[in-house]
Amino acid sequence: MTNINDPSLRSWIEVSEDNNFPIQNIPFGIFCTNEKSPRVATAIGDYILDLATLAELGYFNTIPFDKQVFHQTYLNDFIALGKPITNAVRARISDLLNINNNTLRDNEEDKTKVLHSISSVQLLMPVKVGDYTDFYSSREHATNLGKMFRDPENALLPNWLHLPVGYHGRASSIVVSGTPTIRPKGQQFPKGAATPVFGKSKLLDFELEMGFIVGKKTDLGASVSTQQAEEHIFGLVLFNDWSARDIQKWEYVPLGPFLGKSFASTISPWVVTLEALAPFKVDSPVQDPEVLPYLKFEGKKNYDIHLEIELQTAHGGSKVISRSNFKYMYWNMCQQLAHHTINGCNINVGDICASGTISGPEPGSYGSMLEICWQGTKPISMPDGTERTFLQDGDTVIMRGFSKGDGYTIGFGGVESKIAPAIKHEL
Ligand code: MN
Repeated sequence: MTNINDPSLRSWIEVSEDNNFPIQNIPFGIFCTNEKSPRVATAIGDYILDLATLAELGYFNTIPFDKQVFHQTYLNDFIALGKPITNAVRARISDLLNINNNTLRDNEEDKTKVLHSISSVQLLMPVKVGDYTDFYSSREHATNLGKMFRDPENALLPNWLHLPVGYHGRASSIVVSGTPTIRPKGQQFPKGAATPVFGKSKLLDFELEMGFIVGKKTDLGASVSTQQAEEHIFGLVLFNDWSARDIQKWEYVPLGPFLGKSFASTISPWVVTLEALAPFKVDSPVQDPEVLPYLKFEGKKNYDIHLEIELQTAHGGSKVISRSNFKYMYWNMCQQLAHHTINGCNINVGDICASGTISGPEPGSYGSMLEICWQGTKPISMPDGTERTFLQDGDTVIMRGFSKGDGYTIGFGGVESKIAPAIKHEL
């Protein structure tokens, strides 16, 4: 049996070293074209591979599952088949794309039916999200916010080092990369004002996050241990948790974020499996004080995934404004899932758990405008001569994530969205 993570594997489809989708990746997503209804695909180099048509042509006959899962508008039914099947499908795709396998490579007729250039298709929302939880698991981010809003000497709240803090977010407004983000409106209490005011958010921000997609459900009352957690995680997406800081600041006490967050979150169209990311596992940061037994874990549970944020202005100026890494997370995904379910809360296939803003130790590695520009006190200059402290209409935010292997890159294909002006509110 071939190891499908083997760095020496090559595909008959040419893939450059920096391309996010080498044969070692095989992510899953949903696409459609003018002729084809929404269906499941994988990405290879600059192409997508239509798995529904590939199945109709008999290429998955050796794997026992209902091929209709490839004709669904979301990945949920495919994911729900379980890792023995989804991993077998990845292994079969790897085999079919292998440079030494002539089965599909030399079948020009079938290739025309199943391969499309990525730029010619529309990528859709990959999963139907039932529930969405946002954690707050970067120590650097939590420390930065604590310094800004509370006490620089006691930046972390007393619970922070003992449990992965999170809140229940809004699933209905999670959208796929490319969807414009409409500037939200809401109630705010600006500095110096005597009473709250209503208006469009002036402090619109992004949050650089990664989200994991739950791949295996649990029953009400059951808990997932840190050891079992990986069985319940199908894969990861890039996650931009848009935030309106002025709305958030006024509303969040004492129950946490609400309308300052729920207007939109944007995810990458490709779900990269936990198995594809396995070669990039690294040690987690040391946790001190010692955590309670249900949060203890063994082995490497963090992932070395380079992250970057590019900001493009309407006038064409473009700049990478931050470089961070998923490996900085203080609380890892296994701990997050163990904590999430320790009270018996059930989870379902397609649920998303986002990491919380991923900030690194240096100012150049912060994951939000709030931190990068330090509450508006340190504006960044853009190549078109303008300055930013928060986002303006017409700005586009692009987040990228990738892991570097020996001669190849495993990536997510980016998550991108342009800020659209607020919609006028008729009072
Ligand atoms: Mn967040």
